[in-house]
Amino acid sequence: MDKTLRCTVCPWRGAWTEAAAVRVQPAPLPPALEEIQRGYEEKQAEEEHLGGHRPPCCPQCGNHTVTVKLHRHSAAV
Ligand SMILES: [Zn+2]
Repeated sequence: MDKTLRCTVCPWRGAWTEAAAVRVQPAPLPPALEEIQRGYEEKQAEEEHLGGHRPPCCPQCGNHTVTVKLHRHSAAV
């Protein structure tokens, strides 16, 4: 089963494998967003350290993605 990811910066949303297949240079971000990205980076590095899988970067803008939980009402995201 393929996990669904969404980008934390742009409106991209798609399959894990789709994002993993593409590697793009992260787009420059305003400092406020850079700060958020750094937060994701830390969280994901920690998750990876604990044996988890770090989601691939966004195939559109190269920034961090997060897994989309498809439980019940997905509108609650
Ligand atoms: Zn993106």
